[in-house]
Amino acid sequence: MKDLAADLDRRRAEHLYRHRRVLDGVQGPVLRVDGRELVAFCSNDYLGLAADPRLVEAMQRGAARYGAGSGAAHLVSGHSAAHHALEEELAAFVQRPRALLFSTGYMANLGVLSALLGRGDKVLEDRLNHASLLDGGLLSGARLRRYAHGDADAAAFALAESRGETLLATDGVFSMDGDLAPLPGLAAACTRHVAWLMVDDAHGLGVIGEGGRGSVSHFGLGLDDVPILMGTLGKAFGSFGAFVAGSQDLVETLIQRARPYIYTTASPPAVAEATREALRIVQAEEWRRERLRALVGRFRAGVQALGLPLGDSPTPIQPVLLGESARALRWSEALERHGLLVTAIRPPTVPTGGARLRVTLSAAHSEAQVDRLVDALAAIVRDERP
Ligand SMILES: *Cc1c(COP(=O)(O)O)cnc(C)c1O
Repeated sequence: MKDLAADLDRRRAEHLYRHRRVLDGVQGPVLRVDGRELVAFCSNDYLGLAADPRLVEAMQRGAARYGAGSGAAHLVSGHSAAHHALEEELAAFVQRPRALLFSTGYMANLGVLSALLGRGDKVLEDRLNHASLLDGGLLSGARLRRYAHGDADAAAFALAESRGETLLATDGVFSMDGDLAPLPGLAAACTRHVAWLMVDDAHGLGVIGEGGRGSVSHFGLGLDDVPILMGTLGKAFGSFGAFVAGSQDLVETLIQRARPYIYTTASPPAVAEATREALRIVQAEEWRRERLRALVGRFRAGVQALGLPLGDSPTPIQPVLLGESARALRWSEALERHGLLVTAIRPPTVPTGGARLRVTLSAAHSEAQVDRLVDALAAIVRDERP
């Protein structure tokens, strides 16, 4: 039996220890955390929908009609009219024949990769892909190979060497860096080598692309280029859950074979009703994306004026790169003393030496709140000078 206490002590010494904060009240720019009010720049609630009264009301109506729980898995007796309608609306949104709901994005990624691949197959992944894509690749039993981040040439090279069934999986928008995957180059390489291309667009859907249709749409690509699209509903959509969209045959195959779909309870139908309302708002309220873009521009200009290194990100994920874990932690603590909540992201979530403040912006932030963050960073820069 391994010594858990010693392992925990080591994590503490390496500044890698993680703990949870207790929130009271709704998700939003101002959080009540451990009894204190902080302006937060760390949620994935990019459009400010998580606490929207229209979603809350849709969920309440859903609960009144369907109850609190779904009661069973989708293939048993848990697939409600609310889930079914949401699947049809999501498919129409991303302009694909079918969509299939999963309880979480983590499970959707495990489900797709383990359903489509097995021993003797190959899966290629960007080095900075989300943990769930990497874990799905491992679970599938296929040979997993990682290529250099954002490098379509490296991916094409790996594809050329690959025999048999191959799937290339990438984040559309990278969750810790906010940059976009080179989807046109990846799609061309996958077409040339007859490989599946799967895009996890957890951070792109609702935020970029025409009408918020995400990174695939942003690059003018479609079903033929990217046959497998995964999206999550707990980020820009402000709700919970995930889906996979593609051809009829893809979705039917997942229903038959994806174990994380088959062997789990369907999410509450009331959640699906809230997501349906979110989907309507995401499409109708373009101003949320415009506002987000304006806030991103304001933040970047402010931070660049301070001479701090920012990632090359056009999205609401704006990493301030600080290098060492201890430094990132120190800055995060200093921001908290200024009444601001920004998480320090450390290895193993990011590569060694890549510790950062992961600032995320939301359409719900005010310009004054963004300015307050930039001012606090300026004060920390001044204090750090010898
Ligand atoms: C958040 C996230 C997931 C997991 O989605 P959940 O619904 O939270 O389980 C998968 N992929 C990426 C890129 C993510 O950021």
